[in-house]
Parts: sequence; C-alpha cells; structure tokens
Amino acid sequence: MLQSRRKSISVDVWGVIVWGDNTVVIQSMTNTPTRDTQATTDQIIELADAGSQIVRITINDDASAEAVPEIFALMKKRGCSVPIVGDFHYNGHILLEKYPQMAKLIAKYRINPGNVGKGERQDENFFKIIDCAIKYNKPVRIGVNGGSLDEELLSKNMDENSKLTEPLSAEEVYVNTMVESGVISAQKAVERWLPKEKIIISVKLSHLQSMVDAYQKISGLCEYPLHLGLTEAGGNMKGIVSSSAALAILLQQGIGDTIRVSLTPEIWSPRSKEVEVCKNLLQSLWLKSFSPQVVSCPGCGRTSSDKFQFLAKYIEDQIKKHLPKWKQKYTGFEDIHIAVMGCIVNGIGEARNADIGIFIPGDFENPTLQIYVKWERYMEIKSKTIGEVGKIFFKEIETYLDTNFQK
Ligand code: SF4
Repeated sequence: MLQSRRKSISVDVWGVIVWGDNTVVIQSMTNTPTRDTQATTDQIIELADAGSQIVRITINDDASAEAVPEIFALMKKRGCSVPIVGDFHYNGHILLEKYPQMAKLIAKYRINPGNVGKGERQDENFFKIIDCAIKYNKPVRIGVNGGSLDEELLSKNMDENSKLTEPLSAEEVYVNTMVESGVISAQKAVERWLPKEKIIISVKLSHLQSMVDAYQKISGLCEYPLHLGLTEAGGNMKGIVSSSAALAILLQQGIGDTIRVSLTPEIWSPRSKEVEVCKNLLQSLWLKSFSPQVVSCPGCGRTSSDKFQFLAKYIEDQIKKHLPKWKQKYTGFEDIHIAVMGCIVNGIGEARNADIGIFIPGDFENPTLQIYVKWERYMEIKSKTIGEVGKIFFKEIETYLDTNFQK
C-alpha cells in the first residue's frame, strides 16, 4: 500500500509549492549551452509544455549568466512562465554576485556542497551563495551528489570508520557522508539566517540501493522537502527502468516531494522524454493523473492476430491527440482506465474492471467482440474491420466522457 506522505516544510519555488502534503512536483533540466538563448528557451518551453513544473538550467560561466535575462525575455514573449532554477558548481558564489539581474530572475539556486570550495573557502563560498539567496528571497536546493561528494568530509569519515572495532563498509560510510553533507549544509544555511522554508535537499547517487538508503536516512533526520533522483541513470530503457525502480520504492514509502528522471540523451529522442517518464511513474503509483490509462494485454499464443495491438496503439494515439481538447471540456477524466484485450481469458475480466473496455476474441473463440462499460456488457460488434472497430470504440470513449465528465 502507498504509505502516507512524509510531512515536510513547504517551499515556494516561484509559485510552485514543494512539500509533503502537495502532489509530487515534476522537474527536469535542459542540456543546451545556456549561452545559446534560442536553443535553451526552445528546450525550456518543450519541457514545460510536456508537464515539467520546474526547469533547471546550468549557469557555469559568464556567458551563461549573461544569457539569463534574454532567456526570460524570450520565454515571456512566448507565454512561458515556468520557474527556472540555476544550477551552480565551483563558481556560483562569483556569478551570483557578479550578475545580480540573473540572481534576481531565477527562481531557485542549486548548490552542490561538494564543489563550492575547499578548506576555509568552502564555508566562505557557500555563505556567499546563501547571502544572495537571502538578499533576493530565493530558495536553494542543497544538491549533494555521489559523483562530487565533499572529499574532506568523506576522508575524515573514512579515517574515523577505520579506527572502529567493527567498521562499516565503505559504501555505508559513503552514504552516511552524503546524508551528513546535506544535513550539515542545511544547518549552516539556517545558522546564516536563511529561513528553513527556503531549503530543499537532494542526495543523488547512481547506485540504486545506496541512493534509496541515503534518502531513507535523510528523510528521518530533517523536515526539508526532498528532491528525488537517481543520478547518471543511463540512457533509454536502462535509465527509465532504474530511475523508475528507485523513485518508486521511495515514493511508495511516502518519501519525495519533487522528482527528476535523468536520462542520457539519445539521438532523435526529445528531451521531454524524462518528463514523460515522471508522469507515467506518478500515474502508475496513483500519485497523480495526467491522462486516461490504457490497459492492454501483451498478447500470447492464444491469439495469432495482431488486431488488439493495432487497436491499443490506435486508442493510445487518439487519446494523445484529443487530450488538450479534453482538458478544456472535461474535468476528472484523467483517472479513467480503458482496457484493450486480446482474448477472453483475461479480456472479459479486464474489460469489466475498466471504466470502458473492449476485448477481441482470440483464435477459434466464439464470443464476438464486445465493449463493456462499468461492469456491464454494453455493445457487441460484428462484421467490422479493425479500423472500423477502432473508430466505434473511440466514439464510445468520448460518449462515456461526455456523460460523466463534462465541465
Ligand atoms: S488476454 Fe488472451 S491474448 Fe491477451 S495475454 Fe491474456 S491470454 Fe493472451
């Protein structure tokens, strides 16, 4: 069972509220050079249109810091107001002080405590970023990352661990250091007078079990909202599966207030695919609904026909095409389930359990093709091509929406 959400402090990211009682916020990150204002704006809009509620851009040099006002102007011209987060590494303290307009425009600062500086410089640089956040009333994300963990803190912890009679494994020390880095950094920010309502934490790692462990630990040690992500998850199938597995474990336990799925880009694959993965994940967990779900069977030897596959694809495509129109016309329809099944074995049951379902008889099966609506056999279809069946079934879906979800 889905556990109740962990309570966290509410953080306002330019109108997007990140906290435990709110629905999980989806975010993403551009991969364009920020100095290329046109390409970056295009990608921000692509991600926002796909459903990303917050978009992060890298601000790593003078050119990218200087580009921010123009990106905002281009976004405004195109009617996009998604909150933009600045991702800073190594020189964030310099850029935020040098480019006040940029510091004022962006909605949140991402700080990596592992690369703000070494020795005395670490606190000095960290506080410069925190001071900017206070000055411009911005929230920050303390984004600890396994690939750039604070080396001094890690080697101190490794040394101490080696002196124990029963030392922990290196992996455990690593995870504990990630958690410690996040908690200590947040504490330092608060001691510097950054309000607690301005802090979000992440402890991203690329190793699934360690990442889950880190988030589980930190979730019990603080009340800050948690940004979940499996870093360097990989490309396409691997990245989708491992990110979904990691995030699902935590979300199921009520941990996580905002999520990002990081996928290695594939040629011709839109950047917004990472947003689609987040949406599918949240919908599969029943945490948020974006679009009617199509339940379709995988097919098997009981049916040699590919008709149900064609039908399932047709219905999925039609839903995608009609979704913007439906959003204007209907309310609450995103939760419905539509079944498209290949034979009577599970077909009748799934068609019945769905809000509206259809099953196509398998090889040598007698029952004709039937549509069910809310447990009731609603319609029998005879002597039609699969193209005609698709149109009839889709019309029935729209009738169902008209009857039940009109605004
Ligand atoms: S519903 Fe029928 S065709 Fe589809 S997987 Fe099950 S047994 Fe096979």
